[in-house]
Amino acid sequence: MIPKVDFHTHTSYCDGKDTPRQMVEEAYRRGFSCLGISGHSFTSFDDGWCMSLENTKKYIEEINLLKKEYQGRMDILCGIERDYYATPSEFIFDYVIGSVHYVKVGEEYFTVDYTPEETKRIVNEYFQGDFDAFAESYFSNVSDIVEKTDCDIIGHFDLVSKFSDSLGIHESERYLEAGYNAIRNLIKYDKPFEINIGAIIRGYKQVPYPSEKFMAEILRLGGKVCVSGDCHNCCNLGNKLEVGYSFARKCGFDTVQVFTKDGFHELKIVDI
Ligand SMILES: [Zn+2]
Ligand SMILES: [Zn+2]
Repeated sequence: MIPKVDFHTHTSYCDGKDTPRQMVEEAYRRGFSCLGISGHSFTSFDDGWCMSLENTKKYIEEINLLKKEYQGRMDILCGIERDYYATPSEFIFDYVIGSVHYVKVGEEYFTVDYTPEETKRIVNEYFQGDFDAFAESYFSNVSDIVEKTDCDIIGHFDLVSKFSDSLGIHESERYLEAGYNAIRNLIKYDKPFEINIGAIIRGYKQVPYPSEKFMAEILRLGGKVCVSGDCHNCCNLGNKLEVGYSFARKCGFDTVQVFTKDGFHELKIVDI
């Protein structure tokens, strides 16, 4: 059976649709054993989808109340999806997902996952139309994500491929090499790479992040993986998580890491 667990979820405190209470109630209704909420960290130059510092405080307070309310019925954890460029803060979270959402050119920040049109514009205007150069800039940030965010989980490793299908872009040798270099640098930290199905749920992609080729490199180097939904509303909670588990199996993994209140536990895929 697929573990009824997700650690990568968003609420109306950031760019999610529903409140923490709605997410928790729905997770409980759907039989979750553990729900981690992971709002976008405050990032000073972009308030479009992250939590303000004031809201981060409220977010922690609200989730702590829900934790108490659901004690003994379902484990709830208060996490954060900390961006590479997040503004440092004193807040303490139960866990951290480290993610790269921007590349920086000069003093300007550009999102890598906004819309296909925006990606195209950034590549044309700031990378001379060279998508691989854009991807190299992205992966050079990813390569440093554990150092930079002190994360427990490496979020959507190749998010830069979000619009590859609609833009007709394939994994070139340069692109792959940039990703492999990031994996080789990250592997020593022994943090699980997230198999993220968010873009499948939202109809942008047919396969999860990381791509099969990157999964093969993670496996070859003895890396670990875990599965998340990157869920932004309660009606999608837990949906299609099985796609992530079958993908891990298809890519040759025998085990996956399953999120619990006591950290990650290893689960044999044959037991699922
Ligand atoms: Zn993200
Ligand atoms: Zn997310």
